[in-house]
Amino acid sequence: MRWLFLLFACAACSSHPLRAATSEPASASPGRASSASAEAPAARPIFGFHSGRWTQLHHWLHYAATARRPAPKVAPEPPDTPAWDAAVDFYRAEFGPKGGFGVIFDEGLIDTHRSLSHLAAGERPTDLAPEHAQHLVATAALVDWAAEDARNQSFIASLEPLVAAHGEPFVSTLEDVYATDWPPRPIRVDVSCFAGPVGAYTVGDPVHITISSCDPDYGREGALEMIFHEASHALSDRLEAKISAAARRRGQEPPRNLWHAVIFYTTGELARERLGSHYRPYAERRGLWGGAMGPRKPLATEWQPYLDGERDLDEAVEALVARALAVDAAQRETD
Ligand SMILES: [Zn+2]
Repeated sequence: MRWLFLLFACAACSSHPLRAATSEPASASPGRASSASAEAPAARPIFGFHSGRWTQLHHWLHYAATARRPAPKVAPEPPDTPAWDAAVDFYRAEFGPKGGFGVIFDEGLIDTHRSLSHLAAGERPTDLAPEHAQHLVATAALVDWAAEDARNQSFIASLEPLVAAHGEPFVSTLEDVYATDWPPRPIRVDVSCFAGPVGAYTVGDPVHITISSCDPDYGREGALEMIFHEASHALSDRLEAKISAAARRRGQEPPRNLWHAVIFYTTGELARERLGSHYRPYAERRGLWGGAMGPRKPLATEWQPYLDGERDLDEAVEALVARALAVDAAQRETD
């Protein structure tokens, strides 16, 4: 199954409360009998960051044709030329019906991006329909790629030290929390000013992340949380299945977005533990709690004890689902 999604950080881990949880969940996780750690994963980087001319241009045109949100303030102005307008019209006609989330869910767009991602700046697209390739070549000449590349490289240069300092503890904790091995390293990450309908997205088979170098919520320390948030989408199948099963045992549908709320909570709190109490996780900054990700309290009450090593994964999911369903029911009564 192809999974994918939008979105839409202790140096010493022995005293880390989230790490303290990691000795427990494995017992409830039969699928995690063999760990990648046996193969010395630290020898390979966790992520492979790339700044690509064609990736950036493709996502810019797609954004211009489909986006519902204003472009990030620091994003470049679109070229005011007929060739640019024609290219946007092409993207709107070809990809508009799939909407902004087409980059995440449409197989053709995913394949297009994968092809462009591996193309060097000086090469020309050859795997695309001729008209598509012509629009890309025509508009590439209108864009100051050196400036765009410099912005992407700056983003990478600021994120890499954070990954170097905190990445391995993140990996081992997330593997244990989700009772799932980390995907093959390095996970390919395209850094682009425009990165789909929100600030980042992830597709699978193989795991491939695209993240914005222009969205301020994905900048600086926030980039650490969000790159591991995105990677968590590659680890969440078991969690999602357990949540669904727990809801079904109660004769109900799983609470909407609960699995995604767990990912937001977990990477957000891990980032806070790693970076310090000053750090405000993405979901807090963007007001997702009480909004798109539902209330935070069931997670703090029922999921946090699992992260603290006080219950196992199955117990945590059962308790979390029961609490979330009760909250939903109470909400419906007041509506
Ligand atoms: Zn997400």
